Amino acid sequence: MRVVLPVLVALLLTGCASPTTQRVSVSKEQTATEAQKQLDIVAEELISETKRLREVHWRLSTKGVAMCPKVGPAWGAELATTPKGELAGSMVRLYGTSEVPTVLFLVPGSPAEAAGLRPGDRVLSIYGTPTSDTKALAEKRRTMKAQDPMPLVVRRGVEELKFEVKPVPACDYPAVLAPQQILNAFADGERIMITRGMMNFARTDEELALVVGHELAHNTMRHIDAKKANAAGGFVADLALAVLTRGAYNQANFAQAAASAYSQEFEAEADYVGLYMMAAAGYAIDDAPKFWRRMAAANPGNIKGTHSASHPSTSYRMVALEEAVKEIKVKAASGSALIPTKKDGTAFAGTSSAAPGAGGAAEVSMCVQKGRRVGDTFKVPGDGEYVVRRIQSTAGNCPSSMADNALVERVTR
Ligand SMILES: [Zn+2]
Repeated sequence: MRVVLPVLVALLLTGCASPTTQRVSVSKEQTATEAQKQLDIVAEELISETKRLREVHWRLSTKGVAMCPKVGPAWGAELATTPKGELAGSMVRLYGTSEVPTVLFLVPGSPAEAAGLRPGDRVLSIYGTPTSDTKALAEKRRTMKAQDPMPLVVRRGVEELKFEVKPVPACDYPAVLAPQQILNAFADGERIMITRGMMNFARTDEELALVVGHELAHNTMRHIDAKKANAAGGFVADLALAVLTRGAYNQANFAQAAASAYSQEFEAEADYVGLYMMAAAGYAIDDAPKFWRRMAAANPGNIKGTHSASHPSTSYRMVALEEAVKEIKVKAASGSALIPTKKDGTAFAGTSSAAPGAGGAAEVSMCVQKGRRVGDTFKVPGDGEYVVRRIQSTAGNCPSSMADNALVERVTR
């Protein structure tokens, strides 16, 4: 009896708890039509967030190239194939995607736009390699120099067109929009990920640039060993796709990056270097520190901070950024390059003690003595010997007027 009674009570309760109003009748077709509309909205929202992320990332990674140890060709076209899953229909109808990588949008002012590409173009081959062979294409891209011309064959309607894009060198750490609505961002040594939650939290492009710059800085400063990240996260299989189609969709398996792999010191350094990238990209940095006040309002638990926390407190981050803003303004006023200062006073080149990346790209951007030529070798005290691969800039990018910015490759340690 003691066992049965609660069951009876439950039955009686559910018996009473049915709706009593007449309501309205809705057909299955109506609901299905609305579901399609809502999926279209999701697709449009994802593309628009990707475009915003891409534009901010473009500006930071092309203008901040002098701070990057890993440089690759950037051309500013967003490509995608039709994703698997519920968004497939919307992507085909709204953006003309297919199994061939299709141009979704072009970054304004990018080489791809200048070359005459258009949204909807289907890219059949790049560098003479069919885009269907993603492995060969990733390999080809890796071996190309950043400014090598990039021949493309494109299908537009019934026509097949040839283009030659002239890429620009950029920090070679692609950005991916992670689908989660949580407030976070990640760097895994090779790419950066910004969640949809963070995209929405960052109200202005300046705020987004602060976040993207911070994540880029984790990679440029080699805070995490890319190989370790790959081993831990199993990211390798995603990589070719991410590089070629910049696949931002169906990336749910993508997120558990090394959020806890950094120390507070590295976090503070990423804030500092990221702010320099922002300044180098021409963003207004004056209000950047206040981002951490808004973050404090959203996460009051981080205002005071603790030693064991992975990140410095929001109060520390705010005032440290304010001091960094002052430092950058002094440099800008005196006409110095907007490049972070290193403790030992040596030239800043991302991290000059870094090993070649997992992609094998060992070229490092560095300030070298004026007058160096391609093929010259030189020694960095306490670091090793380098060979000059390319003079990138002879004006403005280095703290001293007696230095040029060059792409160099390590010869010995
Ligand atoms: Zn961080």
